[in-house]
Parts: sequence; structure tokens; C-alpha cells
Amino acid sequence: MIKYVSTTGGIEPVGFDEAVLQGFAADGGLFVPDRIPVIDQEQLQAFSTLSFQDLAFELVSLYIDASIIPRQDLRRLIDNSYREFQRPDIVNLVPIRGNRDTYVLELFHGPTQSFKDMAMGFLMQVVDYLLGQRRERLNIVLATTGDTGPAAAWAAAGKQRIDCWPLYPRGMISREQERQMTTLRADNVHPVGVENCPDGGDDLDLVVAELFSDEKLKRTLALSSVNSINWCRVMTQTVHYFYSYYRAVERVGDPVVFSVPSGAFGNLFAGYLARSMGLPVARFVCANNVNNALHTAFSRGVLPRHDLVQTPSSAIDIVAPYNFWRLLYFATNRDTARIRQWMKDFAARREVVLDVETTKTIQGGFISASISDEETLATVRSVYEAEGHYLIDPHTAVAVAAVEAVRDSLPAAAAIVCFATAHPAKFPDVIKRALDVEELPAAGHHPVIDEARDACEHLRICQLENLRSNLIGEMTRQVARRRG
Ligand SMILES: *Cc1c(COP(=O)(O)O)cnc(C)c1O
Repeated sequence: MIKYVSTTGGIEPVGFDEAVLQGFAADGGLFVPDRIPVIDQEQLQAFSTLSFQDLAFELVSLYIDASIIPRQDLRRLIDNSYREFQRPDIVNLVPIRGNRDTYVLELFHGPTQSFKDMAMGFLMQVVDYLLGQRRERLNIVLATTGDTGPAAAWAAAGKQRIDCWPLYPRGMISREQERQMTTLRADNVHPVGVENCPDGGDDLDLVVAELFSDEKLKRTLALSSVNSINWCRVMTQTVHYFYSYYRAVERVGDPVVFSVPSGAFGNLFAGYLARSMGLPVARFVCANNVNNALHTAFSRGVLPRHDLVQTPSSAIDIVAPYNFWRLLYFATNRDTARIRQWMKDFAARREVVLDVETTKTIQGGFISASISDEETLATVRSVYEAEGHYLIDPHTAVAVAAVEAVRDSLPAAAAIVCFATAHPAKFPDVIKRALDVEELPAAGHHPVIDEARDACEHLRICQLENLRSNLIGEMTRQVARRRG
């Protein structure tokens, strides 16, 4: 039975249910499984013909004890999680640039048009289910740089036992993303637009971390979070690696390269997990924009904490890639003392210098690139022109441009899969700039997003310095109201 421990080693092992409901471990570390399940060759072959939902069932079953979620319940939770997707296959693999086996994997066919939907629906199903077992409620607070908020708001809407508080840096996410939250009519979802955030989502992360460090507050308000550090999300994101692998290779066993636009390193850590479970991944391309702490870590063995730079790929404008600690935890053979020290260095000295051995270890699986704004826009345009008006969003463009930047270092025989993490309709201003047009082309529209443009918004706006006190006040009133 898999138990969950902390990357910083300060807790007793807990079950899947506690890891999911707590979000962060009580010692401030991140939950990781005490062992990674390995899939043998025969199983790997057998999984190749499964539907997305059946594959998800097999993979997440490895991480959830049946005494916590009985299998028939798990089955139902998974089916519910993908019900609102607009494709029966859930994802879509599109070949691009005939020169070699290069594909774009569309991960944006869920209810809010970003890859966050791939795991958020399941997470909320699981949380609501576990709370039902315990007859408890939760206030879920999360900081978002753009796509997490809409996905969480949508997944939480109407859930019996959850109140959801998505916090977003106002003006630093697109209006389309903001409207996905503010036009949602669900009396258990309460988005807050926060003004004056020089470091964007990272400023909000700090407020959330502060709320969570107050044990008494955490208990009286029944607080939890579902940001990209939640184990359930990371685990669930392994599914799209496996599923797309089978569709990109000729034979099971062939190598593949995944290029992933990376912010908090959640999606990429899921890839690392999939590979550790036995998926034949030759390399991961860690695609950064100019907020390139991860690129610096992979190329030079130094993880810096720079100031935030706003870019056209705003969902990956992140200065503290939290899930990277999970990679370092496994790369150092679970050296929790070292992780603790590095986390301190990162906060206090704004820089972590990795040792040579750890740097070599992480370079074994990852290659990286940092893509400028100009390259991002040029890539949107060149793909549009070369691929019969196929339109990619700016995050996808970062992944595609990163492949071009490192192509010579990639194994020649491997198929290349670039993750398309959002629908371009979420970023109309960037698309217009990239294509140098006044009017969005048809491919830049999405019916759900067009509809939200005309709907009535319910805005709740707050200054960063008042966020903590306002949030506590509102949640306290909400808890009292729920008690009736
Ligand atoms: C969240 C997000 C990413 C980055 O994912 P991480 O898990 O934070 O690395 C990339 N692209 C889009 C569109 C996103 O919403």
C-alpha cells in the first residue's frame, strides 16, 4: 500500500486521502509517494489499446488504496471527471511539420479550454467524495496565473462540500480567463481579483502559504488548496503522457520526446513520474519563456529566483517552480535534509546552487530552452502559415520553439510530442499581435469563450495588502452561513 511522505522529511507517512485533502504537507514540504509503482513490459503493451478513461483508471489505481476509494467508486469518479470534454478521445494528437515525426498534443478540450482541466475535474470529484465520507466541508483557496482558477472554479461549481476561492492577479491574466471565473454562476465559487501584485501569482502564493501556516486558522476555516502542488493533480497528469505515447509511436517500446511549456513544473514532473513508472521517454524538453529559472537549473545547475517578467505566455510566468523540489527529491535519492536547505536558500538567498552530481542526474532526462517573446509570436505565425491556418496558443508556441532550439540534441529516432496547453481563443490579443491582424481568424474563436464575453460579470476586487484580512473575513462569514 502506497503511503505519502514529505519532500522535507518532517511528517509521518499518510494515506492518499490525507495527502489530497491537506495539499501541502504539515512541515511545508510537498507530498511524494514512498515508492513509485513500475509497469512491466507486458502491462505496458496491454494498456496501449485502452480508452483514455480506462487507462486513467489503471494508472491512478496504482496510487490510491482500494480501502480509501473502492474500485467501483473510483470508476464512477473518473467517468464523471471527463464527461464534459468535447472529444470522445479527451485529447487530440495533430501531426505538424512533415520534416520529422513531430506532433502537437491538444490538451485543451475540457470545459475551460486549458490543460488544467485534464486533472482538476478528477481532483474535485475526489475531494468532494472524501469529504462526503468524513461528513466535512472545505474552503479551497488557490492562487492562479490564469488557467488554474477557471478550471478549479468550473470543477468545484455545484459540489456539495466545497467552497472555492480562486485568487488571481488582476490585469496579469487575460480578460477571457477572468470572465471564465466571473461569469460562472455557482454559489460555492468566489473568485477574487487582486490588484497591485508586482510578482503576479507568486505574490498570491505567499498570502496562501501564510494562511496555511496558521494552524488554528487552517482548522477553524477548514482550509485546503488545489494548486499545482496537489498530489492528485500531478498523479492524474501522467495519463496524458501514456495515452499520447501510444498514439505517437509505431511500436510500444519506441522512444518519444515530450516538449512541455513549463511554469510550476507540475506537468513536467508528471512526465518524470510516467517515465519512472516505465514509459519509454527519451527526453523531456523543458520549455520556458524568459522567466527561465528551470532552464537555468537544467543548463547550469543553478536555480535562481528572478523577478517576474510579463510575457505573452502568461500561464508560465512563474518565478518559483514548486514541483521542481519533487524532482530534486528523487534526483538526490530522497535526501530530505538537502531539500530543506535548498528551499531555505531559494527563499533567503534567492538562489540554489546544485551539486555536480545532482545536476548531471537531472540533465540525464531533461533538456531545456528559454524562448523570447519575439520567438513565441513568430512561432504562432509560422505554424499558422505553414500548417494550413492551424492556430496554436502562445504557450504551445513556446514548446514548439523550444524543440526547434534543441532539435540537434534530440535522439533522431524519437517521435516528438509538443504539448498544446491552451486553446488560442483564451489569448486573442496575443494572437492578433502574432498574426498582425485586426480581426481574429475563425480558428481564434471558441463558442464557450465567445459566450462568456457577453455574460454578466460578478467581480470581487481587492488590493494585495488587504487580501489576507478580507479573505479571512469573507470565509468566516461563509462558514457561519453554511452552518446555518
Ligand atoms: C499551467 C499551464 C502551464 C504550465 O504547467 P505547469 O504544470 O505549471 O508547469 C502551461 N501552459 C498553460 C496554458 C497552463 O495553463
